[in-house]
Amino acid sequence: MRHCNIPIFVPHLGCPHTCVFCNQRTITGQKAFSVDTVCKTIEQQLATLPPDAEKEIAFFGGSFTAIDHTLMQTLLSLAEHYVRLGEVASIRLSTRPDAIDREILSLLGQYSVKTIELGIQSSDDTVLSLSERGHTAAQAETASRLIKEHGFSLVGQMMLGLPGSTEELEIQTAQSMLRWGIDAARIYPTVVFPETALYKMAKNRSYRPLSVTEAATRCAAVLECFYAANIPVIRIGLCETEGLREEKNLLGAYHPALGELCLNQYYLRVILRELSRLSPAPHETVVIEVAPSALSQALGQKKSNLLTLKTLYPNRKFLFTPSQKLCGKEVKLYSKEN
Ligand code: SF4
Repeated sequence: MRHCNIPIFVPHLGCPHTCVFCNQRTITGQKAFSVDTVCKTIEQQLATLPPDAEKEIAFFGGSFTAIDHTLMQTLLSLAEHYVRLGEVASIRLSTRPDAIDREILSLLGQYSVKTIELGIQSSDDTVLSLSERGHTAAQAETASRLIKEHGFSLVGQMMLGLPGSTEELEIQTAQSMLRWGIDAARIYPTVVFPETALYKMAKNRSYRPLSVTEAATRCAAVLECFYAANIPVIRIGLCETEGLREEKNLLGAYHPALGELCLNQYYLRVILRELSRLSPAPHETVVIEVAPSALSQALGQKKSNLLTLKTLYPNRKFLFTPSQKLCGKEVKLYSKEN
């Protein structure tokens, strides 16, 4: 069944401070939040969604479990009303690791909260400190394990290209998130927004933003970890919002098709690795099988992956082909006589 989130953005509500990269008002395109508009927003979105879709009211954009508990319970009760009416199936929320404890999880358990998205961002304490996250990796691990222990579904959010981060540290973060029991992941290559501390760091050259190409390469490495563990990646890069579209001074890894570019790189990475194992003879054609739905991602935008392979192996033939036997992000390579 198709799953649809009904997002309710609560920008910066509950945040004890501001992370160096964060400008939720631009990311969400929402300048202010009023509890009075929540029902109207839910009902407007319900009217546009397919009746048979599984719907989840999702409180995104802030640190939901850190907001004033009276307001938090008011919002949960509003959402619960739609669950009781049978119009939505459950509630989802995003929060930070230091805003999770047993008491909060017990409280969430009294409502139809199914999924908790945790802003882990990195499992390296130096990266977390340079990003002014205000929590440690140990707190992220404890929060993750508690969320699972209380029976919630856990989505781990991580970022690429934070200050002090490297591809190796990002792979370690993905592996930590897998050990901590995530059910799904979101990956956000860092975009640098004006009016953030990170923007000033980029301008005074104490921080170098990721390029789109670097972001795609580093994301591919992390995607490989998640896909190898059969963990779905439900989002790569920020959603296109009005705020983002209007912002002309972004730095870093912003591209409207970033997710697609990252997936292209993922396929290229896997194909190159499998090719080095296969060692085909020069006169053989290399057949690259992927799931039918993944053929264009594997070929790359404007067949960029095929062109890269032809450049790296000029005398070899490559054939990309869909296979009904494969699913998800599986890739199978074999060689055959020309
Ligand atoms: S915790 Fe989340 S919403 Fe709050 S400042 Fe940091 S990134 Fe922004």
